Amino acid sequence: MKSHTSNHLFESAKKLIPGGVNSPVRAFRSVGGTPFFTKRADGAFLYTADEERLIDFVCTWGPAIHGHNNPTIHKAIQSALENGTSFGTPNPYEVEMAQLLKNIVPSVEKVRMCNSGTEATMSAIRLARGYTKRDKIIKFAGCYHGHVDSLLVQAGSGALTLGNPNSAGIPESFANETIVINYNDTQALNEAFQKYGASIACVIVEPFPANCGLILPKEGYLEELRSITKKHGSLLIFDEVMTGFRLALGGVQELVNITPDLTAMGKIIGGGLPVGAIGGKAEIMDHLAPDGPVYQAGTLSGNPLALAAGIASLKKLIEEAPYHSLEMLGKRMQDALSSVAQEQGIPLQVPQVGSMFALFFNETPVSNFPEALQSDTDLFSRFFKEALQRGVYLPPSAYETCFISTAHEASAIDEAIDSLTQAIKAL
Ligand SMILES: *Cc1c(COP(=O)(O)O)cnc(C)c1O
Repeated sequence: MKSHTSNHLFESAKKLIPGGVNSPVRAFRSVGGTPFFTKRADGAFLYTADEERLIDFVCTWGPAIHGHNNPTIHKAIQSALENGTSFGTPNPYEVEMAQLLKNIVPSVEKVRMCNSGTEATMSAIRLARGYTKRDKIIKFAGCYHGHVDSLLVQAGSGALTLGNPNSAGIPESFANETIVINYNDTQALNEAFQKYGASIACVIVEPFPANCGLILPKEGYLEELRSITKKHGSLLIFDEVMTGFRLALGGVQELVNITPDLTAMGKIIGGGLPVGAIGGKAEIMDHLAPDGPVYQAGTLSGNPLALAAGIASLKKLIEEAPYHSLEMLGKRMQDALSSVAQEQGIPLQVPQVGSMFALFFNETPVSNFPEALQSDTDLFSRFFKEALQRGVYLPPSAYETCFISTAHEASAIDEAIDSLTQAIKAL
């Protein structure tokens, strides 16, 4: 793979930007090597600064469910742009977006827009604390909820990859309010509530944890979360920043028919521009300022360009309902990779749901964070490089989820399966 221009840019970037990147996992630290710079993206493909074409399974970390630079979204942004970039007053897109989210997401009666997934989870936690007048929260080991202070405790994603799931710079007193337990562990959940029940404001969970690979709930586990939080007067927060609109229009809550009190959203609702949202029961949401005492705000929240892109993205999902065909693509990927690994005697688990799949080089299926950590990350790094050399871009970390877009249909998926099959054979 040609990398002259990218390498040159990265040398300059390192002098100007910490680690040369604006989000740590992009630096390729856990897989080794130098990141490529992208000049342009279209459909299922990234085009690097060195004019290489890559089939992309990162999809800008989730948002690009319609593929890159989708013409409908492109036009929506263009036409919003005619009217200006930001007003600082209410605008009509905000009402349309709120109505769409209320129609689509089961838990949403009211919704507040913000600018990232991190803002959404941060505000959801503050709202839960303000509403319940309690301080403690429960999160699960390996779940990533953005870089919120009280949530960067045993976090997944880039934090995990870089070996600091517990970030520096967070006062111990903050972290002490966060109780961390293993996902899928019913006993630990019961014990935490026995001990701290009356002071637990909320449980926040990625309903299908997907920032330490991809982990699926054991039968009945999400139901247990719902019933135990209800019993103790704690709120249940689903962080659907990644799974929302991706696995079903209404997210995991629609798939499993469990309604959380609050939902954090992001990624797909921005159509590739920076958007997040917190939604939930009106009675709880009304505790946000200016109606209530919990402060939450944003200079660019509800930005017309970002919402035009997001609305276009959601409407396209409503019209096209691509979930079945995306599931077929995901299944094909899983089948192809599992079978070639088996044939080669390589221990590989490929958990998959809809258009998400992950690669654990592991003898046994993974049901929680400690098991995920037992995967062979060196083997993943080698696989990542073999794939990249063959024109396929996988997430540059053993603990990230791969995403498929509707633009991967037809030739891109066939080509990718071919290349990844060869990459596994080369290990
Ligand atoms: C990506 C992600 C976030 C953070 O969103 P940002 O827009 O990066 O701040 C939060 N929660 C989950 C589950 C995510 O996947």
